Parts: sequence; structure tokens; C-alpha cells
Amino acid sequence: MSDIRGVLIDLDGVMYTGRTPVPGAREAISILEERGFSYRFLSNTTRNCRHTIAQKLALMGLPIPESLIFTPAVAASRYLKNSGRHNYRFLITGDVIRDFPKNERKSQQQKTDLVIIGDAGDEFTYANLNGAFRDLVDGADLIALERDQYWMTSEGLSLSAGPFVTALESATGKKALLMGKPSRAFFDLALGDMGLEARDAVMIGDDIATDVGGAQEAGLRGVLVRTGKYREDIAKKSAIRPDMVLDSIADIEKVVEAADLGRWER
Ligand SMILES: [Mg+2]
Repeated sequence: MSDIRGVLIDLDGVMYTGRTPVPGAREAISILEERGFSYRFLSNTTRNCRHTIAQKLALMGLPIPESLIFTPAVAASRYLKNSGRHNYRFLITGDVIRDFPKNERKSQQQKTDLVIIGDAGDEFTYANLNGAFRDLVDGADLIALERDQYWMTSEGLSLSAGPFVTALESATGKKALLMGKPSRAFFDLALGDMGLEARDAVMIGDDIATDVGGAQEAGLRGVLVRTGKYREDIAKKSAIRPDMVLDSIADIEKVVEAADLGRWER
């Protein structure tokens, strides 16, 4: 019996790219089910709420209940409930706002106390960024839902929230509190939901830094897939060494096999 009993799986670039499921993604879930592994999906997606993500996955033939999906907004929402802060400025897009408690700002006079930034896409306008900048200078703290550099869309690689978070940090001298990967608290949130420790689990992702490096930093094993944003030259240049590399999630059997053979044991 191996020490690996749980699998955390990134969504974008691992289970699907754009609106297309990765071949074998659905079967991979069945394999985990049949072999009795716990699994959760750990995504840095910040454009949609959990419910919409589950709906999109279902349309792609991936029936994943929303309770198994962990996003930075889910983590941030829990954080906000305990923070005692109520006046937020959101720099986000899509319907991700539905995962947050209602913005309780009472009047225009009240100062923003938290600026919450995700992948805002076309909402990253000068006016919106400058508004966030002014709130930060005025005393608000900065929360980054994610700070990935880029992701793969159907049009090609696209800037994510990271470069904009860095711009606001640079201008204000403030450091953002990170909610998504590679924050250890985010891995712990999903591990806790499975009732497992970091050493009991592997993380499978297409981002060598946030998925693989982040998981390893948090005490999990990190598995890289050669789909989504994976680029051979970037993986080769990276100082991060994945514990395993798969052509795609369709090869999940190799993760299970290694567990059966006790190869994950340290
Ligand atoms: Mg990904």
C-alpha cells in the first residue's frame, strides 16, 4: 500500500484547453474512482464562479460536481468572512463575483479596505488599474486571487493576473496576499477537504511553476503534463524538477501504477 491516496488536478490545460476536453480526461476520473483515490480539482481560474465552471465542464462531457472544485475565489471568500473587512474593490471579470460575500460598502464616503484582483481580462483598463492604485495608496490592502504570468486561450498564450499584480505592488510598495496556487494555504484547503496530508497526495498541472513547484513547496509530489501551456523550452530551463511528467492526463494510470508499486514513497 502506497502513501499516495489523493490526487489534486489542475483544470485549465490539464482537463481541457479552451472549450475542448483533453482526450482521456473523463476516463482519468473513472480510473481514480475505480482505484479508490480521493481527488479534487485545484484551479487558478478566476473568471468564473464554481457553479459556472462545473456547468462548462459538464458541457464538455466532464461531469465534475462543483463541491470538488477549488478556486482562488472560494479560498478568498473564506478569508473575507473571517477578515472583518467589508469594503472591497474588485478588479475581476466574468461571474466569479457570485462566489464572494456581498460587497457591504455603505456609501461612497467609506474607504476601500481591500483591493481584490484576479484575471480581469479586458477590465484591466488604465482607469480600473489606477482606481485600484489610488485605493492602495489610500490604505487598502491587496489580495491577489492568482498571480500566474500567462495561460493558454483558444487565441494563444494570454496575460494572466500576475503582471498586473506586480505592477500594483511596484507602484505602491505593498505586497499582495496570494489566494491561489502556489499558496500553501490553497493546497491545504483542498487537502483538508479530502482529509489528507500533503505527503499523501500528488498535484497534476500544466504550469511547472505554480502547479509543480508550488505543490513540491507545500510538501506534495508534483506531476507535469505536456498539454495546455506546457512548453518544452520553459520546462527545460526551469530549476523545478517534476516528480513525474505525463504526455497528458490520459496517462494517469502511471500515477496509479507508481502508487501500487510504492514508487512515490520517500
Ligand atoms: Mg493550468
